[in-house]
Amino acid sequence: MGKLDGKVGVITGGCSGIGLATVRKFAAEGAKVVIADLDEVRGKEIADEVDGSFVRADVTDADDVAAMFAHAKETYGRIDIAFNNAGISPADDDSILKTGIDAWDRVQNVNLTSVYLCCKAVLPYMLEQGSGSIINTASFVAVMGAATSQISYTASKGGVLAMTRELGVQFARKGIRVNSLCPGPVNTPLLQELFAKDPERAARRLVHVPMGRFAEPEEIANAVAFLGSDESSFITATDFLVDGGLSNA
Ligand code: NAD
Repeated sequence: MGKLDGKVGVITGGCSGIGLATVRKFAAEGAKVVIADLDEVRGKEIADEVDGSFVRADVTDADDVAAMFAHAKETYGRIDIAFNNAGISPADDDSILKTGIDAWDRVQNVNLTSVYLCCKAVLPYMLEQGSGSIINTASFVAVMGAATSQISYTASKGGVLAMTRELGVQFARKGIRVNSLCPGPVNTPLLQELFAKDPERAARRLVHVPMGRFAEPEEIANAVAFLGSDESSFITATDFLVDGGLSNA
């Protein structure tokens, strides 16, 4: 028996990294999975692999987001878990003295506005059911001064934490739990691209992780499955840290 037997989960950013590992974990734990991402070819391959369903959705587009949850409801009859996870790292130098307003806006749209759109679109389904678990991906950078020089990124993730706490409290008596997932550095394409631009940064970061290594995406997916399952039934409105001790070092 899987810990997500009978549940239906929607995962944004499900074609890569943390999202992909979570798609596989959810399927292994018995959930029906809707994978949402921009990459149609990869998305369909992954859907075939896990016997799930793929929807091409840009999470910054309110119509795409509405269609994604409508697809999940029409296909599987309910929505138990929304893992609002898609996100980007800024393309250029994101220090406050360098970053421009267009780059700032882009990061807020993909990392923060998308979470607002997803929560707003999925809550009516969960309210109707009287149950649900929403997990919004933030980051360790939102809970500590991480000296990443990534001002747009850090601010967007701080917004995710604040919005999640607010929603967790607001819907606690309606059977809906809302938590932030705060990963430390995870070995995914997003991190690899960042470190490829600035190799010394990887070494600098690694020194501060008490466990002395970065997470593998599967280790984050295990935490998401826990937050989506009934095993976490008394956990809501938290900043759920999965960071190898980094934020408390
Ligand atoms: P990744 O780049 O491996 O995967 C991100 C996925 O999101 C990709 O499949 C991409 O196509 C998709 N995506 C991007 N923009 C989208 C859009 N507009 N609409 C739909 N899909 C879109 O990244 P990852 O490392 O797995 O990151 C996942 C989340 O975890 C992000 O929110 C990221 O900020 C966060 N995070 C990552 C780390 C890390 O070290 N990797 C640490 C903390 C938080």
